[in-house]
Amino acid sequence: MSPVMHNAAFSALGLSNEFEYRACVLEGARLPDLVQSILTGQLQGANITIPYKSRIIEHVPVVSNIGFAVGSVNTLYREKGTVVGCNTDVRGFERAIEEADVSLQTKKATLIGAGGAARAVSFSLARSGLKELTIFNRSLPKARSLANLVRMRSRTEVKCHNLERIENKLAESSLLVNCTPVGMTGHSSDNTPIPAEVLSRVDIVMDLIYNPLRTQLLRKAQESGCKTINGLTMLVQQGAASFEIWTGKKAPINVMKKAVLKALKGGNS
Ligand code: NAP
Repeated sequence: MSPVMHNAAFSALGLSNEFEYRACVLEGARLPDLVQSILTGQLQGANITIPYKSRIIEHVPVVSNIGFAVGSVNTLYREKGTVVGCNTDVRGFERAIEEADVSLQTKKATLIGAGGAARAVSFSLARSGLKELTIFNRSLPKARSLANLVRMRSRTEVKCHNLERIENKLAESSLLVNCTPVGMTGHSSDNTPIPAEVLSRVDIVMDLIYNPLRTQLLRKAQESGCKTINGLTMLVQQGAASFEIWTGKKAPINVMKKAVLKALKGGNS
């Protein structure tokens, strides 16, 4: 969705002659070439997605404080003769939570997943003053390493478990966030990452997936009486943050959102 969203925004602000956003497939070995292309001005900037959000860090000369703290970078840009890597997923998640009018201070939250997105979400949650965070992941070592990172950087109490143990271990939570691709179109759209029965222990369920907008997890959560939040606002807000860095102009958020919704409706959502 990023090309659709950014190209609509460039067009709305009359920047289409200057900017074009293209999706590219890149071999990991070519990450240094990508950084070099930005340094020499062949490219104005880039977004980085799965599976390079962490690996790119070793190739970027300057990493923002948040990118460094999260251990994940999704946006590259040129500044003062060098290339900077930063993380706009954090802002995207925080805006989505604000928009849904959710306050997490002194509350409990649960994360499913421990990849790049989970890193950004856990960083945001910890700095929101969350009391307790529980991370469930398919591979326990990755959950442990994320839990340690959050403990090092905040006062939030952090627990972690293998995803298989969720039925026994999920405590009552104000918010549960799915940071896995389970439920995504083309991946496993009929599935939920956790059994629907446990959702009655949760107040709000957020799925970072935006295609489809209503995942199976969100359907089940609604049936269990939970408030639900999909991944659309986070997608648009992280994109808006990148757009503002590249262009120096205020992002036309409504244009970006409309372009994504149109593409999802016309496409495979
Ligand atoms: P990632 O770094 O590859 O991490 C994926 C996570 O999902 C890992 O913890 C992995 O567990 C887990 N996982 C993968 N397949 C699984 C399965 N079949 N069952 C259980 N767990 C599984 O990916 P990411 O960058 O964090 O992205 C995760 C999701 O968030 C994607 O759907 C992505 O589109 C979405 N996202 C949305 C936004 C937005 O703006 N809305 C932003 C970022 C990401 P293991 O550690 O065991 O492999």
